[in-house]
Amino acid sequence: MSATAHDRRLVAVLGHGLVPAETPILRADDLGALRGDGIFETMHIRDGQPWLIEAHLDRMERSAGLLEINLPARGELLDLAKTILSEWNPATEGALRLVCTRGPEGGGVPTVYATVAPIAASVVDARRNGIRVATISLGFGADARSGAPWLLGGAKTLSYAVNMASQRWALAHGVDDVLWMSADGFALEGPTSTLVWLTGDRLWTVPVDRTGILSGTTAAWLLAHAGDLGWTSGYRMVTPAELITADGVWLTSSVRGPAEIRAIDGTERPPSAFTSAIVNLLGFPV
Ligand code: PLP
Repeated sequence: MSATAHDRRLVAVLGHGLVPAETPILRADDLGALRGDGIFETMHIRDGQPWLIEAHLDRMERSAGLLEINLPARGELLDLAKTILSEWNPATEGALRLVCTRGPEGGGVPTVYATVAPIAASVVDARRNGIRVATISLGFGADARSGAPWLLGGAKTLSYAVNMASQRWALAHGVDDVLWMSADGFALEGPTSTLVWLTGDRLWTVPVDRTGILSGTTAAWLLAHAGDLGWTSGYRMVTPAELITADGVWLTSSVRGPAEIRAIDGTERPPSAFTSAIVNLLGFPV
């Protein structure tokens, strides 16, 4: 760590290193800005280090493949993360973003940069106290994205306007987040999180290949370590009615961590006895 440890937003650009956070770094014709044509990853910074960065870079490479974007080599992205985190205060919980746009319209190299920023109090609050969600439909069947690569199922693209509109809709309707539904009645994922639930001693999440949801790094890690809590794990489709009677339901994501779902469409769920075990296993501060 350098002599100056920051806990306000930092920005670093590939090929330029750290720049003042207010520096304009995109050209006006960058396709990332014009069309949301690019990819990104967001990861949790704990003790000054990015958690699960290799899994995030694996996913970023998969996203780049799906969008046919020339992502720089992994070593360059790791160096960029190291550069920005060298100035970050390790005592502050943070969120690191890595962004790669397609670059200027008409051709050119991708624009690649990183940001790190502290985590909002509302995010920590959701992790501590849980969330109320409403179900809203994406308007297509659960299988619609399988075998339709142009729909970019499984890619973490910069096109998040629909995701953000869904979360604004949640706030406007008195809940904290939404659970996206398929037109045929299955719960899929949150706009920025993966659905995970417990029935008995089995921890579940939604299958990625069939549905085209994003493969969550947090949920994948949690399911891979379910044995530490004496559970097995699996993938299956689920309806909101089944979630109401599950032994615990969470929306997991890299920065918020596991947020327990305490109500679905106004039907309350009792607090799960297992939330603190999951938060601790995932290593999030409480
Ligand atoms: N699903 C969507 C659509 C997301 O945007 C995210 C994270 O941003 C997730 C799931 C959770 O993924 P992760 O655990 O890798 O953060």
